[in-house]
Amino acid sequence: MTMPRLVISFVTLAFVASLAACSTVRTSNVKNTSKTFTTVVVDAGHGGKDSGAYRRYGPPEKMVALDVAQRLGQKLRESQIKTIMVRDSDVFIPLNDRVAIENKQKNAVFVSIHFNDSRTRRARGFETYYHSGASLDLASRIQQKLMTIPNSSNGGVHTANFRVLRLASCPAVLVECGYLSNRAEANQARDWEYRELLADRIAEAIVDERYGSGVYRPSPQVAAQLRAAEPASSITPAGSR
Ligand SMILES: [Zn+2]
Repeated sequence: MTMPRLVISFVTLAFVASLAACSTVRTSNVKNTSKTFTTVVVDAGHGGKDSGAYRRYGPPEKMVALDVAQRLGQKLRESQIKTIMVRDSDVFIPLNDRVAIENKQKNAVFVSIHFNDSRTRRARGFETYYHSGASLDLASRIQQKLMTIPNSSNGGVHTANFRVLRLASCPAVLVECGYLSNRAEANQARDWEYRELLADRIAEAIVDERYGSGVYRPSPQVAAQLRAAEPASSITPAGSR
């Protein structure tokens, strides 16, 4: 009995060691809540003394990220999903505090909203980042929905070691909603109707991830944007049907 047990524990050890060798960073246990979550932790990037991407001709990243995050939060609540807003005003929140907020939730997913910056003014497009395998599905879905925006450019879905993703114990994604260093995308980011559209596409992806497609209802503003001028109809919360 002793020998087989020893062999088993050696095999287990070797397996654990090989897993550890695969990752260069400490990876916390990620619980895959992407089909069960009741809460979305909505993280507006930057804030306060940290402006994020900043260009003379446009609003700082911290402002447009907050606006998209707030619109996203509103849409999720209209779909009967609880939200935790990491910030709801122009305040600085250290990354470790953001991680603490996301990991305090028992059954959640985490979505961080950012805008991008590049020295190359031609750089443009949406990018969605994730770290754990449990987050890939949500990341792909968000990227796919963003790509339904007319004339959008696909920067792809990528892994990244951002702290809010790496240390998350739930599915966690970070969305770069276009480049503020690109004139066309910065102009779009200045337009509240466009930010409404961004929030709508991200919200739909999150609701689809949780409940399947066909449950989400776009807001009247977005419906109007998509289908010319139609009188705004009231929203039927997804959960009440
Ligand atoms: Zn950012």
